[in-house]
Amino acid sequence: MTCRRPTDGFARCWQCNRHHREFGAELADDVVSISLAPKEKQLARVLSQYKNSQSEHVKRKFTNELACVLAAFLAQHHPCLNEFDVVTVVPSSQGRTPPLVDVLGRRISLTRGRFAETLVTRSSNTREMRPDHYEVIVDVRGKSVLLIDDTWTTGASLQSAAVALNRAGAARVVGLVIGRHLDEPAPATAIPFEWTVCSLCQQG
Ligand SMILES: [Zn+2]
Ligand SMILES: [Zn+2]
Repeated sequence: MTCRRPTDGFARCWQCNRHHREFGAELADDVVSISLAPKEKQLARVLSQYKNSQSEHVKRKFTNELACVLAAFLAQHHPCLNEFDVVTVVPSSQGRTPPLVDVLGRRISLTRGRFAETLVTRSSNTREMRPDHYEVIVDVRGKSVLLIDDTWTTGASLQSAAVALNRAGAARVVGLVIGRHLDEPAPATAIPFEWTVCSLCQQG
C-alpha cells in the first residue's frame, strides 16, 4: 500500500506504518493517490481553495478543475473502477456536504449510478485515527467500496473512515485521493504522475 510519499526504500512512510501497526487489516486494502501535492504548488492551492476560498467564482472554477481530474482518471481506469459496488466519500465536519458529493453523485457519469453517502462523522477531520467518530449509515456488508477524498495529509481521516466501513462488514475498501499533500517539495525520487497507471492496474 502506498500513499506515494517517498520513503527512501521502506515499504511505507512512517505515518502509514504507524496506522498499520495499530489497525492492520482494518485499514483500507489499498490506497491510490492520483498525484503528489507539494505545499505551495498549484494542486495544493486548488485543493485548499476549492473549499475555502472567499470567492464563489474561485470555488466553482477549482471544483470544476478537480472534477475534470477525477473524471479523466476514472475514465482511464474504468476497468479498475468496475471492481467496486459502491463509490463514496470521506465526510467532512458536521453539517458540511463535501463538494465531491455533487461531483461524484451527479456530474461524473461513471460514478453517478453507484454513488452513495455511506458515512457521517461527529468530528471534524482529524490528524489522529478516530474510527469511532465515523458512523456507517447504509448497509455495506459484503460490498466492495471505493472511498474517495480530495487530500491525503496524514491519511487519518480516510483511514478512520476505511476502518469504520470494514467494521461495518465491507468486503473491500480502497481509498482514492486526488492529492497527497507534502510539506516539502517533491523529491526527485518521487513516482512521476502517470495517467495510464494506478496502483490497482499495477497489481493486476
Ligand atoms: Zn504513507
Ligand atoms: Zn487503474
